[in-house]
Amino acid sequence: MKTPGLNNSAFADPALCQGLLHALEQKLDAPLRFMEVCGTHTVAIFRSGLRSLLPKGIEHLSGPGCPVCVTHDREIAACITLAGRDGVRIATFGDLMRVPGPEGKSLKQAKAQGAAIDIVYSPLDALQLAQQHKDEQIVFLGVGFETTAPTVAATIQMAQRKGLPNFSVLSFHKLVPPALEALLADERPTEEGGIDAFLLPGHVSTILGLEPYRFMVERYARPGVIGGFDPADILQSLLLMLEMRKKSVPAIVNQYSRAVSDTGNAHARAILFDVFAPSDALWRGIGLIPASGLVMKDSYAEYDAWKRFSLTLPDVPEVKGCTCGDILKGRRSPGQCPLFGKACTPANPVGPCMVSTEGSCAAYFKYAIGNL
Ligand code: SF4
Repeated sequence: MKTPGLNNSAFADPALCQGLLHALEQKLDAPLRFMEVCGTHTVAIFRSGLRSLLPKGIEHLSGPGCPVCVTHDREIAACITLAGRDGVRIATFGDLMRVPGPEGKSLKQAKAQGAAIDIVYSPLDALQLAQQHKDEQIVFLGVGFETTAPTVAATIQMAQRKGLPNFSVLSFHKLVPPALEALLADERPTEEGGIDAFLLPGHVSTILGLEPYRFMVERYARPGVIGGFDPADILQSLLLMLEMRKKSVPAIVNQYSRAVSDTGNAHARAILFDVFAPSDALWRGIGLIPASGLVMKDSYAEYDAWKRFSLTLPDVPEVKGCTCGDILKGRRSPGQCPLFGKACTPANPVGPCMVSTEGSCAAYFKYAIGNL
């Protein structure tokens, strides 16, 4: 019998998904709690309706893979400080505009109060702004993971080749494997249990390949599947998790081989690490994670906004009441936050997980509010 819900447009191959769901039901011999690391997976699971179709006993937790959500209050405060300086024009992706910083203040509010802030769709747009506004300093806010950082690095290389004196990047880039290491090292299983397996991010893995995740198996005996974003990809990834558990052989497996090569994209990594070096970084709600950020190398120092404007991270109080940190670590679900859907909504977000389209609180609010 066809499972209701498989006929929506997200299911390109309903028959395949039906078969995969059936296989999952057959093979599920104990509860499976998996963490989807990437915000795109979170949204894919909700938007397709897959969450309600999964066999009882399979539970998903959202992880730290939404770049806007993990941007720290102090980093937002640094952006706002810089946005207020004369002669500076900030260029940023739109998602960052509404992220609350200290005392709830956002870049959107700073813009309303007169700061020069433009929304751009790529770092190249910011470079173009620098060419158009020669009398202003254009600062691109570099937010994102290994997926975005190579493009930003290539833009910095281009700015250097062009000798642009009024372009720089304020880097808040973050790296996924060190965050997973921190999460596993500090794992505190809840009443429901720990994390049995990880659905690893498809986009980030196009750059990284499999190698950077091997520590999860070697040091924590935890399996990970690099998965695509179609419902069938996610279901196949879950089956792979169950099969590994049955054989007691955890591994890092590549389900998304049509997009991710086992060795990743060496060319993109070469560009990335020509410009940037790993550095310690602050993650919202999680804290300082060693070697989990990217700082510009001395050979590109003139494009480093931290140095150009002698900026430091302001010491600011954290946003009160927001439990994004626990949500990003898989210790709570959005519905367990007392502010969810009351003081905190997409129209009036208290924390970043409610702002970003890939934030778990925003996804729960949009797709699951009546079904928590
Ligand atoms: S519902 Fe709002 S306040 Fe609560 S964790 Fe999510 S973003 Fe933070």
